Formats: sequence, C-alpha cells, structure tokens
Amino acid sequence: MELNDINPNVLSVKPSSMREFDHEISDDPQIVKLTLGEPNFNVPEHIKQAAMDAIKDNHSHYPYFWGYPELREAAAKYYQDKFGYHYGADQIVVTVGATEGVADVIETLFKPGEAVILPSPAYPLYDASISLHGLEQVRVDTSKTDYILTPEAVQKAIDDNPGLKVRGLILTDPNNPTGVAYTEDQLKALVPVLKENHIWVISDEIYGELTYGQKHYTLSKWLPDQTVIVNGLSKSHAMTGWRLGFVFGPSGFIDEIAKVHQFTVTTPTSIIQYAGIEAMKHGQNDAEPMRQAYEKRRDFVAKEMTEAGFDVVHPGGAFYVFAKIPASLNMDSWTFAKTLAKEYHIGLFAGAAFGDDECIRISYAASDEALTAAMKAIKQMVADKSVVSD
Ligand code: PLP
Repeated sequence: MELNDINPNVLSVKPSSMREFDHEISDDPQIVKLTLGEPNFNVPEHIKQAAMDAIKDNHSHYPYFWGYPELREAAAKYYQDKFGYHYGADQIVVTVGATEGVADVIETLFKPGEAVILPSPAYPLYDASISLHGLEQVRVDTSKTDYILTPEAVQKAIDDNPGLKVRGLILTDPNNPTGVAYTEDQLKALVPVLKENHIWVISDEIYGELTYGQKHYTLSKWLPDQTVIVNGLSKSHAMTGWRLGFVFGPSGFIDEIAKVHQFTVTTPTSIIQYAGIEAMKHGQNDAEPMRQAYEKRRDFVAKEMTEAGFDVVHPGGAFYVFAKIPASLNMDSWTFAKTLAKEYHIGLFAGAAFGDDECIRISYAASDEALTAAMKAIKQMVADKSVVSD
C-alpha cells in the first residue's frame, strides 16, 4: 500500500509522544508514574450501582443520538447549579468524552484552511484535531504573561497573520498542562476582542470542578453566541475509562453538531448514560473529596519543586504542576524526562509535548507515597546533574 493513498491530514498527525513515552517507561518495574492525567480515585459507588442496574434492567437499546433526554436535563441543571451554565437540555449533546466533543466542534465550525488560535503550551489533542481537519493553527506563547491568554495576544495573532482566516480559539480553563485557572476579570477581558473579530471559542472546562482557592467561571457567560463548551465526567467523577462528555452550545449550532455526532459515533453506550444520569442527579458532591486531596498534593508538589530550584507556575486548578527546569541542569525537557525515568525511575512528561521545551509537567493525580518518592528523586537528580558554572 502507498502512503500516497492516505489523506495527508491524517499523515500529518504524529502518534502521541506522551503515550509512547508512558508505554516505554511502563516496562520498568520500579517506575513511579506521574505522567497521564488519570485520577487515582475509583468511580463513586452509587454511579457503579446505577450502571449495574442499567444492565440488569435491560437498557440495551440504541439511546436517542443526542443522548437520553433525562441525562441532558440532569446535566443542564447540574452545570447550571455548579457554574451558572445557561443551557437547556436541547442545547446539549452527549458525547464519548470531551475528546469527541472537541473533534465534533472543530468539524462543525471550521472549513479546511481556516485558522484556530491555540494558546501554548497546550493539551496535544487540539493540535492533532486541528491537523486532522485540515485547519491551520496560530500558536500563542503564554509563558510571558503568567500562562494567561491576554486580549493583546489575541489581536496580535490575528494581525500578524493577514493571510489566514482566523476564526477560532481553544481555551482550556483550568489548564492542562499549566494548571492555571482564569479569574473572572481575565476572562471578561477577552470578550471585546473575540466579539470584534467574531472568533468562536471552544471552551474546554473538563477541570472546572478542580480549582483551589478560586472559583471556576465560564467564558460563555459573557460570550454566549460564540462559545461552545466541552465538559464531561472523566475528571470530576474519576470516570476516564467510561467515556462520557457533553457539548453545550447556542441553539442552531448545536443542531449541526448533533449531525456530526450522529453520523460518526452515534451516541455513548446506554449503560454509561444511565450512570451519567445518576452522577448528574446525585453526584453533586462527588468531586469534593478528590478536590481536597488534590489541593493538598498540589501544595506539597509546588513547595517541593520550588525548593528543588524549579520555577513553578501557580496552579489554581486541574491536577498538574508545570515547572521550569533549573538552568543549572542545562537540559531540554525530553532529556530531563528521560534521564529521570531511566536513572531515577520517576516518570513525568516533557513540556515539549505541549509546546514548551523549558518545562516539565507533573500529574499529581497520584498517591502521596508516589509524590514523596518523586520529589526526593527530583531533588537528587538536581543535586547530581547540576553543572556548576564559574
Ligand atoms: N481536555 C483536556 C484539557 C484534558 O486534559 C483531557 C484529558 O486529559 C481531555 C480533554 C479528555 O477528556 P475526556 O476523557 O473527557 O475525553
């Protein structure tokens, strides 16, 4: 078979370097992994029970492709109560995780050749999805503005690319990989420039329930006609493998996305949707014990990494610490990650996987023992490998 036969958009996507690295280091029996964004909590018991009941009760038929009305009604209420979302059940499509949501929204909104602004560093899914759909991306470095996207940077991204039709922006708040969570003022500041330039925003709020000492706000409050939210239960209810997400969007737009969804995945499985109904109706407090545990771990990791000589980005949400490698190590991010894995048996991700080669990402969705061992090893590595300059 000739590779020429393959769609060039597909050929342009490289396999995830993160997944490959994670797979590679898994061969080491001693490895302690702080790699994937995977909650180390179990699915709450009442949600498991709902899934088992759905099987026993023979809920085995095709669900309505938008998702069960009961689930969409429950999700509308849940997210309204949590974050003030203003969407009715008929403005929600139930997806196979936020991942499907991102792909569907990109496919629905943009025409091949149009451009999307991607604040960098960024979760690699977006890069791949943009390429798969034949779109251009304008990466905007946020590292000089505390990893917050500013209105000036949005305007500059448009002005600097007169040859591109910039029509979209992907905003991840709270952010992966930086852990940064936007304040109300920071979000509001973006609204005029987005309105003036008619930029559609894909607002990935999958970590919305995991914020520390600050509230989660949604940009859709101030930009309702140009925002599409993706969210889901992977992080809030530790249901990564169950694959349940939502897209919330303005009427009209949401009908179009429903078509893309219907003729690709159809719908998440009936059993998981029943579990989702339970989560949305009775799982309002499920995230809180996890959030509290994460907050303690965040404090610990941020303190230890600072002590070890890393410049730590203030993590207001999610479960990541993103930290600049000390200059004394004179290492790029993959060299750091590979050395730490090979010689010290600790796995974390290179910032380069997200577009920032000066940093590394630690997922603190891990046990206290794992985090303690990792911090000790990182301090040891800094002591062993620092190059003394004269
Ligand atoms: N969006 C962000 C920012 C993520 O970090 C992740 C997973 O790590 C996802 C989306 C994927 O979410 P889901 O499991 O709902 O597909």
